[in-house]
Amino acid sequence: MSADRVCRVALPAPLHQLFDYLPPADVAEPAIGARVRVPFGPRRQAVGVVLEIAEKSLLPRARLKRIGEALDAAPLLPEKLLSLLRWAADYYHHPVGEVIAAALPTLLRQGRAPEAAHVTVWRATSAGLQALADGRLARVPARRRLLAALRDASDGLEADALGAISARWSEAIKKLQAEGYVSAHPRDCLRAPSADPQMPPPLNTAQRDAITSIAAADGFQGFLLHGVTGSGKTEVYLGAIEAVLARGRQALVLVPEIGLTPQLVGRFARRFRAPLAVLHSGLTDTERLCAWTMAREGKAPIVIGTRSAVFAPLKNIGLIVVDEEHDGSYKQQEGFRYSARDVAVMRAAREKIPVVLGSATPALESLYNVRQGNYRELTLPERTGAAGFPLVQLVDLRRQKAHDSLSPRLVEAIRARLERGEQSLLFLNRRGFAPAWMCHDCGWVAPCQRCDARLTFHQLHKKLLCHHCGAEQAIPETCPACAGTELRALGAGTERVEQALAKFFPMARTERIDRDSTRAKGMLEEKIRRAHAGEADILVGTQMLSKGHDFPNVTLVGVLDADQGLYGADFRAPERLFQQVLQVAGRAGRADKPGEVLIQTWHPEHPIFAALARHDFNGFADYALAERQEAGYPPYAHLALLRAESPNSGAALHFLRAAHAAAARLKAEGVTLHDPVPAPMEKRAGRYRAQLLAQSAKRAALHGFLDRWLEKLAAMPQARRVRWSLDVDPQDMY
Ligand code: ADP
Ligand code: ZN
Ligand code: ZN
Repeated sequence: MSADRVCRVALPAPLHQLFDYLPPADVAEPAIGARVRVPFGPRRQAVGVVLEIAEKSLLPRARLKRIGEALDAAPLLPEKLLSLLRWAADYYHHPVGEVIAAALPTLLRQGRAPEAAHVTVWRATSAGLQALADGRLARVPARRRLLAALRDASDGLEADALGAISARWSEAIKKLQAEGYVSAHPRDCLRAPSADPQMPPPLNTAQRDAITSIAAADGFQGFLLHGVTGSGKTEVYLGAIEAVLARGRQALVLVPEIGLTPQLVGRFARRFRAPLAVLHSGLTDTERLCAWTMAREGKAPIVIGTRSAVFAPLKNIGLIVVDEEHDGSYKQQEGFRYSARDVAVMRAAREKIPVVLGSATPALESLYNVRQGNYRELTLPERTGAAGFPLVQLVDLRRQKAHDSLSPRLVEAIRARLERGEQSLLFLNRRGFAPAWMCHDCGWVAPCQRCDARLTFHQLHKKLLCHHCGAEQAIPETCPACAGTELRALGAGTERVEQALAKFFPMARTERIDRDSTRAKGMLEEKIRRAHAGEADILVGTQMLSKGHDFPNVTLVGVLDADQGLYGADFRAPERLFQQVLQVAGRAGRADKPGEVLIQTWHPEHPIFAALARHDFNGFADYALAERQEAGYPPYAHLALLRAESPNSGAALHFLRAAHAAAARLKAEGVTLHDPVPAPMEKRAGRYRAQLLAQSAKRAALHGFLDRWLEKLAAMPQARRVRWSLDVDPQDMY
């Protein structure tokens, strides 16, 4: 009998455990953090990562299988990153194998070597275009199709794209290349460094102090960089990164989904004499592997990415920046439900480096961390180059009747802008023409068959659409309830506002910016370009307008329906409203043209508006934090939400009641369990949903309880009849 030790491997399976294997025969034991290919199940092979090496297994030796192949001679994931991933699996109560899989590019999960530094791009040659035009490839359809695709792709195509056209692409491309019809080009996945880096503007005192404080941090320190849009936060990031690069270390910059624009990447690239790796969900598998590898080998001093980039390996990480740290896209809403912002802070603590969370409207959790002394606040008080914050005023809708969401006061304000050749921006977080289609005889409202929701009337497509499940319906002309014919659109969305503007101001050029109007590729950029070029007078849009883009010629911001946020089912609704209004307002105006913000509301007395009018973030935070404390919500308590859903009505609640009873038997000290309740929208896409909230003032108490509870849940027979999941620190309560 050999003295083999046992490798404990994390595999991408929905099980909260590691799997024991014997090391491969005749080669050295794989290192911790290296990938291995192992037999898994009767016929399958799987790629996993060795997490532990133990002297023996709890399983009898005869039942242990051998690792088939060691894929990495050295650890693929550095030790500190592995320990971060293990922490994340524990904290979010998600199977560690799936957590590690989420951190690896697809190609590495499939067993590819971590070295594909170049991406090959193929392009059609002029001889190839001629051959295609002459029909010379008629008898070799695979080659013809590939060449035709290359003809239509001006930048050429990579392996992934060609593979999608023909399964035998590699052979066919080789032949095309031999015929001189296509040419291969290596492409570096990094953004080239700037040969002639741009100088920063002369910084103000607050900016310089902020950069000095961050650069002086010795070891872990959380910073909250708080400053309105345009106050120069990005300049602070750039300055802090410069200091990190000067010390030969790397910087990781996280940005929200919508914030990762070519403009932002360009701004970073222009500033540094260092290449940049960009990681986001739109990359091909090869591009992702390439950028990931460059980060890991230290060849990309700066790594910019969205949510999952928080798990990118960096050889010598010296700083993490989280821009717009309050943004909801940092929270993954399915599967492994982590918060990239929170993981970033945890990663910085492990790496003993500073982390900068930047925002104009910090999350209350982050502000609370400042007040508790956990983070240091760095404030940028001035708006560089701008004339302070716009004047905020309320329009009382009880006194002003609005037509299609536009009050007379707002209409007059828009008219004044048009006369002065200035732009207006109208914000309404509701796309489509109208949120309901109603019978004026009996009050019937067209419902979605699959959701507890009303259908939205889309006039452009002449359809009723469900914004929750995507269902489509023809528009009924007669009422199914009373056969009446007085059916009309009720309420207003962006389409209707656009139409109303056309009636009020037939000469004005309106640009609508929402998910519907920007579906085509490049459309959003085109609309933003038109706005900047002065080719639009009025912008109407949803929250897409509140993020990422500045509109210096906008001097009027109208918030059409602020009340949506006041009394929402979610305890975070007021916080989001405040953030959104402040964000939109912050996009407008500049030094010589101060902006004005008009907020239409039925509840002008709500304290949130008084704080908005004073631009008083801290005042709002005092009010909102007091409310949270009273209700026992974060940051004063920690939450975990157990969700369940099933096509059978009752099954989800049935499971949660059993889960509740199991929890009661565990007698968790200091944990409050709420009663299971139907979700605020109980039926969605044909499934009935319910939820159960667990709450505790003590994080350790909650997590200790969750460990024991999950074990029980997995064994419950009711669990097999529903789809369920646990959300730790949920951001949305539905
Ligand atoms: P934020 O990230 O807070 O929105 P930015 O750093 O993007 O702010 O700054 C907004 C604009 O002001 C940018 O064009 C930037 O180059 C410029 N800017 C920033 N700081 C200064 C400064 N101290 N002096 C002059 N211009 C500045
Ligand atoms: Zn009716
Ligand atoms: Zn629906």
